[in-house]
Amino acid sequence: MTDTPDRARRPVRDGLLTGDLSDLKTVKLAGSRCKICDEATLGTSNLCPNCGSDEVAPITMSDGGEVWTYTVVRYKPPGDYKGPDPFVPFAMGLVELPEGLRVLAPIGGDVEAVMIGMKVAFHPYVRADGVVEFNYAPV
Ligand SMILES: [Zn+2]
Repeated sequence: MTDTPDRARRPVRDGLLTGDLSDLKTVKLAGSRCKICDEATLGTSNLCPNCGSDEVAPITMSDGGEVWTYTVVRYKPPGDYKGPDPFVPFAMGLVELPEGLRVLAPIGGDVEAVMIGMKVAFHPYVRADGVVEFNYAPV
């Protein structure tokens, strides 16, 4: 009927998360910072997308951010949508991090309470199929 609950956890995308997936308090967003131009990028990378340098170092993204903009998704997305069934409307936002980049992610909580400039925090969670993904929760 459903996937076995003890299936090994895995990240929603390789190279996107750091920490121990069995202990969500340790899970953070992974990033990279260029030693030449200081550009920060989401996920582990060996090349800077800004200047092409291969002198990049891994960083851990801050948990806190601010909603830069958002929209409310009121209809179930097509395809293999993995959210609640029946569908529940959710906010999808661009969250600006102190590292200087914006992350596209769902915003948890009441969709009517989401505002531009709202403070949010990184919130990893485990789906029924064992995939660890994240949203941002109001703080
Ligand atoms: Zn660079």
